[in-house]
Amino acid sequence: MIDVTEQKRRVAVIGGGITGLTAAFYLQQQAKDQKLPLEIVLIEATHRLGGKIQTLRKDNLIIERGPDSFLDQERVIEELAKQLGMEDQIISKVPGKTYVAINKQLSPIPDGSILGIPTEIIPFAKSDIISWSGKVRAACDLLLPPSNVKEDQSLGGFLRKRFGEEVVENLIEPVVSGVYSGDIDQLSLHETLPNLAEACLKHRSVIRGIQKENSQLKEGTLESTSRTFKHGLESLIFALEKSLEMAVIYKGVRVESISKVQDKIILLLNNQNSIPVDGVIVATPHHVATKLFRHEGLLKSLLDIPVKTVAAVSMIFSDSAIKKKFDGDGFVVSRNSDYSITACSLTHRKWPHAIPEDCAVLKSYVGRSGDESIVELSDNEIEKVVLQDLQGMLKIDEKPINTIVSRFKDSMPQYTIGHWKRVEQAKKELHAAYPTIRLAGNSYEGISLNDCIVQGEKAATEVLASIFQTELYL
Ligand SMILES: Cc1cc2nc3c(=O)[nH]c(=O)nc-3n(C[C@H](O)[C@H](O)[C@H](O)COP(=O)(O)OP(=O)(O)OC[C@H]3O[C@@H](n4cnc5c(N)ncnc54)[C@H](O)[C@@H]3O)c2cc1C
Repeated sequence: MIDVTEQKRRVAVIGGGITGLTAAFYLQQQAKDQKLPLEIVLIEATHRLGGKIQTLRKDNLIIERGPDSFLDQERVIEELAKQLGMEDQIISKVPGKTYVAINKQLSPIPDGSILGIPTEIIPFAKSDIISWSGKVRAACDLLLPPSNVKEDQSLGGFLRKRFGEEVVENLIEPVVSGVYSGDIDQLSLHETLPNLAEACLKHRSVIRGIQKENSQLKEGTLESTSRTFKHGLESLIFALEKSLEMAVIYKGVRVESISKVQDKIILLLNNQNSIPVDGVIVATPHHVATKLFRHEGLLKSLLDIPVKTVAAVSMIFSDSAIKKKFDGDGFVVSRNSDYSITACSLTHRKWPHAIPEDCAVLKSYVGRSGDESIVELSDNEIEKVVLQDLQGMLKIDEKPINTIVSRFKDSMPQYTIGHWKRVEQAKKELHAAYPTIRLAGNSYEGISLNDCIVQGEKAATEVLASIFQTELYL
């Protein structure tokens, strides 16, 4: 057993993804600010930190295997970057158009659309994606009485009531499933896009609500452009790791279980060691969190949170490979098409700093809801399927110079109806049994990188407050 001194309190962070690293960072910062006698231990199962954030740097290319950017409307990442002295490394995406692939055709998503929801009349009226009857039906959103959004409901069902079938299937569903890797008819309105329900309630129409809230966004100081770090998202991970001078970091060590012996919490590790601690932040996926407490039967409600498996496939071509005249920087794919890919980014257009001029990099995603078995195919087989789709859509007549397949198994938690209740029940149970343990991460209160950082900071504040009875700075 590793010893713990009498005066010092020890907090363990389990999981070294963005959530766990941020939690450790804020534990350290708050302990320093409040002069708390704290030891921090961060335990990561794999031999690297970052979790889903994985940047590959090779031959002057910067390729993000997983997430590649963030929308930082609340300036959460910018603030963290400032504290790490790397705010000057944040860069914005080159503006560009997104298309939707439907019926073997690529059409631009009308300007002004937000998550595929049309908000500007003229570009929407001119779009060839939707028939005239579909357009008239979508405009009914402006005339219909406000929907009853007090009760949670499926996102797809709500949007169908407001905009009709065609706009949902041809425009909104491809974008939503590109972002959440989920089935729009299973996702919860309240948990996935709570702002839509609020906008509808407040302004009697989703379109009017978005127009109002979005104009405030444009006028205000908030940023709605995708951004990243010029040396890749992993540079944020390296900076966080470097900043953790107070923490002991174990890599390649898995926590197997959490239990209690007298007034100590005991973490049992896969190397048969155990660590006594006073508080814990569990920043692993929820299905792992449940396993850590299986001997006590805690957190069972989390097992009802479905997870999806996806793969990202980056193909590097010569810059002459794309023969189709295409001015977009990416496209999403309708589930009613014959294609296997769900979305594709033209990385060289979005992030030209990351790709040499003589290359084109296409990052495609596979693993549509209901068709996740494709992720189990070999790299060569996945490459074949993706290449066939891209050849059809972008008239590519060359083989890729290189292909990087990155699988993310059980990686995308789905916020289906009842999500918040499941999470709340688990947190309540945990609090009753272990008042100094908190759950944080993309399974609970938002899947974006920003959401994870917010949860990491909140968990750090709460755990310190529960151990040292300090004030909560939330
Ligand atoms: C392909 C893909 C693309 C995405 N794109 C974007 C994007 O562009 N923008 C955006 O905002 N979000 C994006 N997301 C979502 C975002 O990347 C994730 O929500 C976020 O990275 C999750 O971070 P996390 O720290 O909560 O979890 P993870 O990154 O999964 O980290 C959890 C860590 O816990 C470790 N662990 C697990 N079990 C144990 C154990 N028993 N003991 C110790 N350690 C353990 C794991 O090894 C892992 O390192 C994307 C997600 C995917 C999969």
